Amino acid sequence: MTMPNDKLSIKVMRDAFTLGTDTPSAALERTLAVITEKDTDVHAYLEVYEDVKEQALVADRLYKEGGVTAPLLGIPVALKNNILVKGKKATAGSKILENYIASYDATVTKRLMDAGAIIVGAVNQDEFAMGSSTENSAFGPTKNPLDLSRVPGGSSGGSAAAVAMGSVPVALGTDTGGSIRLPASFCGLVGLKTTYGRVSRNGLIAMGSSLDQAGPFGNSVADVETVFDVIKGEDSFDATTYKEGTYAEVPLKPTYRIGIPRDFLKGIESDVMKVFEDAEARLVSLGHEIVDVQLPMMEKGLAAYYIVMPAEVSSNLARYDGVRFGLHVDGRDLLDDYERTRAQGFGPEVKRRILLGTYLLSSGYYDAYYGKAEQVRVVMREELASAYEVVDCILTPTAPMPAWKIGEKSDPLSMYLADIFTVPANLTGVPAISLPFGAVSREGKELPIGIQLMAPHDGERRLFDLGKQLLSE
Ligand code: GLN
Repeated sequence: MTMPNDKLSIKVMRDAFTLGTDTPSAALERTLAVITEKDTDVHAYLEVYEDVKEQALVADRLYKEGGVTAPLLGIPVALKNNILVKGKKATAGSKILENYIASYDATVTKRLMDAGAIIVGAVNQDEFAMGSSTENSAFGPTKNPLDLSRVPGGSSGGSAAAVAMGSVPVALGTDTGGSIRLPASFCGLVGLKTTYGRVSRNGLIAMGSSLDQAGPFGNSVADVETVFDVIKGEDSFDATTYKEGTYAEVPLKPTYRIGIPRDFLKGIESDVMKVFEDAEARLVSLGHEIVDVQLPMMEKGLAAYYIVMPAEVSSNLARYDGVRFGLHVDGRDLLDDYERTRAQGFGPEVKRRILLGTYLLSSGYYDAYYGKAEQVRVVMREELASAYEVVDCILTPTAPMPAWKIGEKSDPLSMYLADIFTVPANLTGVPAISLPFGAVSREGKELPIGIQLMAPHDGERRLFDLGKQLLSE
């Protein structure tokens, strides 16, 4: 597999390190040079760590000695800033955590480091991962490296931009309702939302605990798979992680039957739909079968998500009280401290969701909203399980549109609609991948489109298999 120069690949880098034609130190210098050159415009990075050069020197020496087995030795990686790195700021894109220093490493951080990765820095995100554009960061928006007048998608926009601008081959983001897949589609990358429980949430700053998963962005399916293999697996610090063999095996097949829920594919911009049809045609030409599937509950996903998620948000964010973490604003008494801290520390989108979630969970409304939404999740899951008796995977666009202009979506509802195709995977826990496929033209610029494949629980390998075929890897 070859990559254009600005598209970094773990495999190409690692092979060069092993051969001695490149070194982790030289690669790191290039990473830092790209950041210096491009990040003033893009603003992907919130912080570039100071102690990285020493790590690269150690990696240089290990490659010189030979016999390296660590899969990511010397590979620069960027982390969304809601993933804890011991001793470094973990802001989650919020003023309330502006000066909060993580006291331990997230499990995913630790696993990346154990695999030899060099964590080069923290990247921008929507505040507490709430948003689809990275415009909700308290530290200013990130721009799409492919068109600086546009958003990179969100909420993991910094992770996507860091890869798309060529600073790192891979980055980690988190996905609660699409926050890896949407920015992957807007920036022309591969992005994976893993099966719920496949990757530990220990050390992630929680948004919606029954929905959150961390996962990789990369330029290829192969790189995303490499990172997945490093971060996945049971973890005693997260009781929702599962053991191998918990789910029925999802075997690879020579050809797959791929279901498209056509009735669900509404409101898609026409040229995006055309690209989607090209992807269908390509899958057919590869020998796969495309069939229609009926998934009527999918349509309810967005409504259910925007109930379950704020309910969990209001509960998770109650801990930011000005006493235990981050910002503290002094008031007349303790209650006034809380109010001032939260009023100043949280941005408008976060406040909206805390208020909404608190209302939804209040007695008298709980059953009507949260209870109903949880029932919708159960029915969606059953519906998907029956669909997977007939089809191997489900195909949709990742989003109804390409990257929009910065500032274009000013009312929150229109932004929520971008999540229509991504939230079902979070609500049901199945894995889903966004694959870059084709482009549409806007104002004379070619903008990438992503298509989404969903598999049964624990079916990541099937997504990788089909993804590699689609992208000719
Ligand atoms: N855009 C969705 C939201 O704002 C998804 C966020 C996410 O996955 N973190 O809730």
